[in-house]
Amino acid sequence: MKIGNIEIFPTKIICLGRNYVEHAKEMNSQIPKEPIFFCKTTNCLIKTGEPIIYPRILYENNEINRVDHEVELAFIIKNKCKNIKAEVYEDYILGYTIFLDITARELQKQDRGINLPWYRSKNFDTFGPIGPQIVEACEDPHDLKIELKLNGEVKQSSNTKFMIFKIPEIIEYLSKYITLEPGDIIATGTPSGVGPIHPRDLLKASIENIGTLTNRVILED
Ligand code: MG
Repeated sequence: MKIGNIEIFPTKIICLGRNYVEHAKEMNSQIPKEPIFFCKTTNCLIKTGEPIIYPRILYENNEINRVDHEVELAFIIKNKCKNIKAEVYEDYILGYTIFLDITARELQKQDRGINLPWYRSKNFDTFGPIGPQIVEACEDPHDLKIELKLNGEVKQSSNTKFMIFKIPEIIEYLSKYITLEPGDIIATGTPSGVGPIHPRDLLKASIENIGTLTNRVILED
């Protein structure tokens, strides 16, 4: 897919869970001692301006009818990584972008303890908007304002300096277990303020120096 001017061919999307203290608290979850990660499929990916499709299977069932926004800083892998040391992380990053980890929250709760790590709730089609561009030169990815507006109202507002596990550590940790391939997308977790979205809502996710990712929610046909 093309994000801004850069074409990438991701083999996977890896997302960090509970990587901001305030978000772990709002979820009544423990602060992790080492990174928690899960995968999203490339079926989730859409660009800025494309609709997030609210699935009818959720909409029509009150017990699972909740879908949340989670704004996250993501980075794109440049070179194949296995057993990479934190100090050399910059050699393996193509650039930075914005990612929305859209989550079927009630389904995620239902799956807790059964289906960890939440594959079903995280992987509906279109549940991974990304963009609007990949910024290759980022002076300090750990000091960027990050914000999400829902219909013009600020819902999430934080700074990437509050990430528990920083990008060098994340690359070192993940690459111990999984080979990261060029184009792979790593999302670094969401700050607090997550909440529900509904059909017709307009989401604007912004990160300083990267831009704004805009997506409207529509109900599945
Ligand atoms: Mg997330």
